[in-house]
Amino acid sequence: MERQDRQARGAGALNPTATPIETDALIIGAGPVGLFQAFQLGLLEIACHIVDALPRAGGQCVELYGDKPIYDIPGTPVTTGRGLAESLLQQIAPFKPGFHFGEQVATLERQGDERLLLSTSAGSAFLARTVFIAAGVGAFVPKRIALEGIERFEGSRLFYHPEALERFAGQAVVVQGGDDAALDTALALAGRAAEVTLLHRRDAFQAEEATVAALRARIAAGAIRLVVGQPTAFDGSALQVTTPDAQTVTLALDALIGCLGISPRLGPIANWGLELERKQVPVDTQQFQTRERGVFAVGDINTYPGKKKLIVCGFHEATLAAWGATEIVFPGRSVPLQYTTTSTRLHTLLGVSH
Ligand code: FAD
Repeated sequence: MERQDRQARGAGALNPTATPIETDALIIGAGPVGLFQAFQLGLLEIACHIVDALPRAGGQCVELYGDKPIYDIPGTPVTTGRGLAESLLQQIAPFKPGFHFGEQVATLERQGDERLLLSTSAGSAFLARTVFIAAGVGAFVPKRIALEGIERFEGSRLFYHPEALERFAGQAVVVQGGDDAALDTALALAGRAAEVTLLHRRDAFQAEEATVAALRARIAAGAIRLVVGQPTAFDGSALQVTTPDAQTVTLALDALIGCLGISPRLGPIANWGLELERKQVPVDTQQFQTRERGVFAVGDINTYPGKKKLIVCGFHEATLAAWGATEIVFPGRSVPLQYTTTSTRLHTLLGVSH
């Protein structure tokens, strides 16, 4: 890892003016393991911030199987991906971690005082004594529409999986995609936007039956127009589409919304000078620390002999990694093991009284 002896203030950050947030621990990734990491750090009185590229917590559990049942969380016979994320958020609430959503951690550099400087895609910077990489299979990013030069319209005429749809009121909007997210977006825009067109490569959808039925009803009512085909060119105000029978259709629009799904990208982690084995970070099994002191890796991102990509394994790793961090955050102090059942100190931290 590159060592930086220059002044810590913003060095290496994308926005050099950002004053770094100083913290004992920075967790990269708010998937189930990153969230539980915050809990274990909280029990050990290590304050933390959590950054995730997504606009919400939950990682794969929410993005890939939010409504599906999950049966192998200890003590929880059944929950859903989303239910698990909600329970974890509730569990860590007493420790008030600082959440930073919609930001991808871009750089990680060692400073002269041994702390770690991190910067995000949104220009935030953190100066952390310990870092917990809980990045799973990478940052989830929307799949882009594959047309040359289209990226120059991003943020003005082109949007991917937008959270708020108010800005499209009164506009002519084309939504591309055929899954639940695409259909939900088109349905939410009908009646709000001036014109809504759903563009998909075929007249069949990979979405919940009820959502498809609602879409068909809105199409029949003339509230949504369906165009089947593939986009071939976009100039910011018109999208050219080739239909299955090789016709060219031009769609005039104010905004193009891409809902082509999301896919994980390891992204910047590969540039942090960490050892990587098949896109995973090797760790020891005492503390789940990487070869870099103070940089721990937990959950799906790490690898070690016998590794299993299961949430319960990530929870164990997060527990021992938090203990590993005590040596750095509280040097020379022996930290006693306490039970949440009986420790009055832990009850105070958890905000419960007995
Ligand atoms: P993730 O859940 O992948 O979360 C990582 C987070 O890090 C993401 O939100 C990502 O956006 C963020 N991130 C990555 N890089 C950056 C960056 N540079 N900056 C900011 N943020 C970043 N496991 C089980 O134990 N039981 C099951 O029944 C089960 N069922 C599954 C079903 C399916 C369909 C799938 C796909 C997985 C299943 N798993 C199951 C596996 C389980 O979901 C994963 O083991 C678990 O999600 C790993 O958690 P994590 O916190 O390590 O990573």
